[in-house]
Amino acid sequence: MWVRFFGFLLVGLLSVKAVNAQQLQALARVDPAKSAIVENGDGGIDLQLSLSQPVPFRLFTLDKPLRLVLDFQEVDWTGFDETAVIQTEKVADLRYGIFRPGWSRMVVDLPEPLVIDYAEMKTDQVRGSAALTVRLKTASPEVFAKASGAFKSEEWAVPKGHKGIKPKTRQIGDRPLVVAIDPGHGGIDSGATREGFQEKDLVLQFARELKDALIRSGRYKAELTREDDTFVSLPERITLARQMGADVFVSVHADALSEGRATGTTIYTLSEEASDTAAEQLARQHDRGDLLAGVDLREQDDLIASVLMDMARLETGARSDLLADMLVSGIGQSIGRIRKRPHLAAGFTVLKAPDIPSVLVELGFMSNRSDLNNLLTDDWRQKVIRGVLLALDTWAFEDAAQARLLRQ
Ligand SMILES: [Zn+2]
Repeated sequence: MWVRFFGFLLVGLLSVKAVNAQQLQALARVDPAKSAIVENGDGGIDLQLSLSQPVPFRLFTLDKPLRLVLDFQEVDWTGFDETAVIQTEKVADLRYGIFRPGWSRMVVDLPEPLVIDYAEMKTDQVRGSAALTVRLKTASPEVFAKASGAFKSEEWAVPKGHKGIKPKTRQIGDRPLVVAIDPGHGGIDSGATREGFQEKDLVLQFARELKDALIRSGRYKAELTREDDTFVSLPERITLARQMGADVFVSVHADALSEGRATGTTIYTLSEEASDTAAEQLARQHDRGDLLAGVDLREQDDLIASVLMDMARLETGARSDLLADMLVSGIGQSIGRIRKRPHLAAGFTVLKAPDIPSVLVELGFMSNRSDLNNLLTDDWRQKVIRGVLLALDTWAFEDAAQARLLRQ
């Protein structure tokens, strides 16, 4: 049994046609003063969200970790303060932001299995405003598990191109390489946050600059997996790269690590066994970013796992490792030095494309002061970009030579 709610509030919209058209075209605003999450008498919680106008919405719960996901047609969160809205100790945290162009999402962490009892959006006929009420009631873990699951939406689904894919024809130096640049995080998932800076913004800026440099060189085509501050799930990033016809996939991050003193540019490749605990922590952190944004990764992982068996992965793995080593020497040359053990590995979901050589570049760690300064410095970023370009040039040459050998 799948308990889900999907409200297309056509009735509500029709009944407020007195509200002028301009107001309906503007984004609905959340009114934080009239929004609250409180305990109800039955051990569950009530969520009340006040909006300046009704919007289509849907909601569902997800397991591991337990959470409630609310999607709305895009709303304006200005002034929203979760610490004021959460009025019960039962809810530790919530996140909100753009999930898809035109769609906003709010994810509420649940303390225990709570299922949706009812959800209702009421429209104020006079003012045109709307109030969404969601009541959650306690349930056994079994009932919760049965009632939970993400929506299967055609629009949002990862295209089913995963099975039986054929690796793209390898380049032999006869055409420009297509580089998929993947700025980490985005939208509801901010990534690391330090001193008022957010990882999602810093890596997007770098990705744009890298794209420009690659295109300006005349030797590459380059596209981003996200052009703006929107959320893209890890499996979708791979799908987008494939749709671009990417020859290589370069994911860009600048995470923060709580343990140890992570610092310096580091290149990661995929491995079932993590090279060290910090790499493992990073890979887990990235999956957690998706989970907290309300993505159900379990099913995706099955899809990816089935193609991991493909022989193509062996070859792709070796090509990824070569690219990582080239990046280490390219960036090392351009910025003058690189950390010890600059090439590490772990089970990063975003690197699991069996057919596209993929690497993840941690430009630096926002948790380190001097790394953060570097990230904010134009000159430093340009040096890294020159290093990446040098690495891609060398890699493309070597890779084409190997491809030609394999063809003979
Ligand atoms: Zn990151």
